[in-house]
Amino acid sequence: MFFVCGRRIYYGFLRIMWKMKTRIAFFDAKEYDKAAFQPYANDQTEFIFYDTKLCENTVGLARDCDVACVFVNDDVNAAVIEKLSGFGVKLLALRCAGYNNVDLAACRGKITVVRVPSYSPYAVAEHAMAMLLCSVRRIHKAYIRTKDFNFSLNGLTGFDLHGKTVGVIGTGKIGKVFIDICNGFGMKTLAYDKFPSDSVGAEYVGLDQLIRTSDIISLHCPLNAETEHIINGESIAAMKKGAIIINTSRGELIDSEALLSGIKDRKIGAACLDVYEEESELFFEDYSGHIVNDDTLARLITMPNVILTSHQAFLTEEALNAIAAATVENIEKFTQNLPTGNEIGYPERK
Ligand code: NAD
Repeated sequence: MFFVCGRRIYYGFLRIMWKMKTRIAFFDAKEYDKAAFQPYANDQTEFIFYDTKLCENTVGLARDCDVACVFVNDDVNAAVIEKLSGFGVKLLALRCAGYNNVDLAACRGKITVVRVPSYSPYAVAEHAMAMLLCSVRRIHKAYIRTKDFNFSLNGLTGFDLHGKTVGVIGTGKIGKVFIDICNGFGMKTLAYDKFPSDSVGAEYVGLDQLIRTSDIISLHCPLNAETEHIINGESIAAMKKGAIIINTSRGELIDSEALLSGIKDRKIGAACLDVYEEESELFFEDYSGHIVNDDTLARLITMPNVILTSHQAFLTEEALNAIAAATVENIEKFTQNLPTGNEIGYPERK
């Protein structure tokens, strides 16, 4: 602990003495990231934007940088961390809330990790509701029809959300907002969380009951060893016929093969997916001219009752601006040797 602290003070001292610029390598940086961060550029910091994701093949791009700034699909494994640390990178600044893509145990004693725990829970919760409404009112089909002057309504019959039961798994910042939105629609709201909260406007029930009795199930818990494949063949079998699944959290919460089987068996009524188990190779990139090798994803996309967005739920102006402001503050505080309040713990390797 003293060693890490001492190293940081020494580093801060050197920076002030030599008026060194803080060099920040941004990975998986798209135009909207650049636009949000550019207003914070100044003569003390140098932003270097890389379109590519961080992985073992690209980590060399962070050589001579002080900070590596990453997003949800950068692969920050032990080998990458070893190399970052060897290059002198002292801070890994996540411009997101989830950190399942970082080997935190490997960071211990080598690199500090900060994140943006909250930027706009509304962005994600509203996207979940947007996908649900789109699905149950067949907006995705109507949009294409009317573009072609096809004004037929056949096959577009939806159903009211009012009076339906929605089960929310994970009642943190986003889950709570989603519950409030659903309550506004007059839905019956059930919730399951490992750590229930008093301020949630839903009835807490056990996971089994939520799975068995919900018309719609929305996932808002983080990905960890306990939640991986929380939706699997067994839970799908226990669901109501025609249940709708919404996932704006992390792809690995759902066993995609089991979901596909549930859809083929006509057990699942619809799936609204903003995230996908194997998204890291594909999402955020344009593969429209390519042959996609992921057969499960390709088959899911062909289903008339599957709506897929490419990890887009966070993408509002408000969220991007809040992410940029919080990330820059994290970096500034770290370089000034101040506590950020957003540092993530480093578990011991088991
Ligand atoms: P949060 O930390 O505020 O809430 C997570 C909730 O999950 C907490 O209440 C926690 O107690 C609960 N939880 C933890 N382990 C659980 C378990 N085993 N079973 C049931 N509940 C459990 O997080 P948040 O800000 O609401 O974000 C939720 C998730 O949304 C994040 O983990 C992230 O994966 C995802 N996310 C996605 C996007 C997107 O663009 N699609 C954007 C932001 C966040």
